Amino acid sequence: MSFFDKVKQGATDAAKKAQQTVELTKLKAQVSSKEKEIEKFYNLIGESVYGAYMSGDIARAGEIVERFSLGIDAVKQEIAVLDQKIIELRNEKECVCGKVVVADTKFCSACGHQF
Ligand SMILES: [Zn+2]
Repeated sequence: MSFFDKVKQGATDAAKKAQQTVELTKLKAQVSSKEKEIEKFYNLIGESVYGAYMSGDIARAGEIVERFSLGIDAVKQEIAVLDQKIIELRNEKECVCGKVVVADTKFCSACGHQF
């Protein structure tokens, strides 16, 4: 590779790295707004349980709690998808044990799992 090719390659790598940083920041912002959605669901669950208690029929809260819990499940799945994208973007992978390692790792340092 000639000197100028190396310079060009360096510039391309730097541009890629910058693009990656932008992507990561965007994904992390999405994750934190999803986490806020979950917080809202928790608040709604608390309010509905208390509302049912105040009305003298706590059992009424069950259906509402279930509906909001399904909402939380859905948002958590969306977060899992975003987390997966973040891992891939960082050139990492997740072991079956949950440990995140560099993509070309052959064995997990936590549980010994072979990839
Ligand atoms: Zn592992």
